[in-house]
Amino acid sequence: MLILDGKTTAASLRATLKKEINSLLPDAERAPNLAVLLVGDDPASQVYVRNKERACAEVGIETITYRLPAHAKQMDVTHLISQLNVDDGVDGILLQLPLPAPIKAQPCLEAINPHKDVDGLHPENQGNLSLGLPGLRPCTPAGVIALLRHYKLSVDGKKAVVVGRSNLVGRPLALMLGSRDNNATVTMCHSGTRNLAEECRQADFLFTAVGEPRFITADMVREGAVVVDIGITRQENGLCGDVDFEAVSRKASALTPVPGGIGPMTISQLLANTVKAWKRRNGLL
Ligand code: NAP
Repeated sequence: MLILDGKTTAASLRATLKKEINSLLPDAERAPNLAVLLVGDDPASQVYVRNKERACAEVGIETITYRLPAHAKQMDVTHLISQLNVDDGVDGILLQLPLPAPIKAQPCLEAINPHKDVDGLHPENQGNLSLGLPGLRPCTPAGVIALLRHYKLSVDGKKAVVVGRSNLVGRPLALMLGSRDNNATVTMCHSGTRNLAEECRQADFLFTAVGEPRFITADMVREGAVVVDIGITRQENGLCGDVDFEAVSRKASALTPVPGGIGPMTISQLLANTVKAWKRRNGLL
């Protein structure tokens, strides 16, 4: 069974991005710049932001992190975003989710200039994805596709099942897999799906983004299937995916680990989107 190693793959993608930035720097006025917005003091979000800052620094993307207190108002967030939207020194804006209640994420995401929306979550970018038009793609699904490409695992003509339909992961992933670029035949499952196990057993490629530890058991997996575990749940003894790794590894032909699978790939796509936004702003695309 092949382990789809997101950690090593992401490191090689970062090395490629670093080379690309260095080769383009003489033609650009400045290095790529990412503005990171962190609202409140959620410990997991602070770890995620630190990891993103570190990855940016490694490839030569400058970051400026703006910290707002947990009691910040919706307007404080959207006001800061509108300032960053018109700041010529900023190529990308990353709003770290989740936001503390009662701030609503959707209006904040909609406030971001779509050309600086490096998380690919603005309705214009999600709309472009669903229409098959160019745009910034959501990082986690883009990371999944990049990992499959790295291992030359083609979904073309294959049956793909995606468990989860969130705007962040499941829905855009299903759209990407079924696009003309990838050509899978896709089923998207959710909490209303009848006989989920039977749907999953049809999959040549099974993708799961539910957030329930060991939710996908071996009886839900076809012999020889490729299984991509996007779920991450924090438990006392560390991070846990959606897949019962031990049992499923005896049936799958390829499987992503958690941690070290899609997590690092997601960050690599954030960097790739920031470089893309920077190139567009500098007429280098
Ligand atoms: P979410 O918004 O909570 O979506 C979960 C999805 O799972 C929903 O569509 C839900 O269906 C579905 N679901 C829940 N229970 C189910 C059941 N019993 N049967 C079938 N479907 C069920 O979560 P998310 O933001 O997509 O994230 C999902 C997981 O991915 C989380 O563990 C998150 O931490 C992880 N994640 C990882 C990365 C990464 O970089 N690796 C990035 C983002 C998210 P309904 O729509 O019917 O409610």
